[in-house]
Amino acid sequence: MRASHCPAAVEVVQRRDILRCMPRPERTSGASAAHAEPAVATALRDAILAWYEERGRPLAFRRTADPYAILVAEAMAQQTQAARAAAYWERFIARFPTADDLAAASPADVLREWAGLGYDRRAVALWRAARIIVARHGGRVPSSVDELQALPGVGPYTARAVAALAYGVPVGAVDVNVRRVLGRIVGGSAGIVPAADLQMIADAAVPAERPAAWTHAVMDLGATLCKPRSPHCGDCPAARWCRFAIEAADTTTRVSDAAAARGADAHPADAHPADARSAAPRAPRIVRERRAPFATTNRWLRGRILDRLRAVEDGRWVDLDGEIGVHDHARVLLAVQALSGDGLVEVEPRADGIVRARLPLS
Ligand code: SF4
Repeated sequence: MRASHCPAAVEVVQRRDILRCMPRPERTSGASAAHAEPAVATALRDAILAWYEERGRPLAFRRTADPYAILVAEAMAQQTQAARAAAYWERFIARFPTADDLAAASPADVLREWAGLGYDRRAVALWRAARIIVARHGGRVPSSVDELQALPGVGPYTARAVAALAYGVPVGAVDVNVRRVLGRIVGGSAGIVPAADLQMIADAAVPAERPAAWTHAVMDLGATLCKPRSPHCGDCPAARWCRFAIEAADTTTRVSDAAAARGADAHPADAHPADARSAAPRAPRIVRERRAPFATTNRWLRGRILDRLRAVEDGRWVDLDGEIGVHDHARVLLAVQALSGDGLVEVEPRADGIVRARLPLS
């Protein structure tokens, strides 16, 4: 099976529907392009949706159609794996079942409920968003992408995800997983599709009648099959139309043919490295940086400071007068100031250099 020669993604997106230019698994003799292209787009969408219905992840927050609960879920999933966020989501929704409940709570309450999820700025941003939802939208999460994006902590991805999942707006939510899936399907092993073009592709790909299921389906493809380093193309419903998978299949065939021509065993792994190098699709090299131990990071320090403040009752000040872990007092003070700047703590400096802090009450 060989890839058809689709124009470059940048040219294609000008046609608005990138899925019409997928590599075709087979061409129907006598069928005009005008008929074949929508059929390809429909077949690909149907295959992905059918796979999702059978194999999609049964995450807790997929059981709700409540826009507020969906907003909370998307806020939690921004920097946390969806499966892990799901357990926190159930607890959070039980504690703050509506935007009114969340808006009426104190930031301290919300930060306590957020404990363990990390990236605590999201908690305060969500609380601020709830207050705006109550004050300006009568307690109902807005449905338009622009109004959603105007809420604290809601960026282009979250706004589109909530619009699609809660209100059925046919817009594409592009996170890192979706970017990888669509980029590989359209761009192949080169995988380089400019962000603005990929957003247009994602928007054009959404089936108008099933935006929510499509959004979940593409996210799940990226999370479970289309892994960054080793995509499971053999199990993927998009493989017949995916440029990346088709290029990989072509490469395997070419390398096997070269090995057979030399009389070697026809297994690609046995091919001469030079053959493999020349024939293989050039996936980008991923160079992993050696990371510092987590306990030496500012993120760890911020988390431990917040843990100390969460451990006392509301309104009580906590003296931060020494080192925490490997972080000396000067670094602790800097971290507290940064937390204060983010609205996560209230600070009361003292003349002796000790800083007192507490979770914010309003
Ligand atoms: S066929 Fe492979 S590369 Fe293409 S979307 Fe599926 S898992 Fe990703």
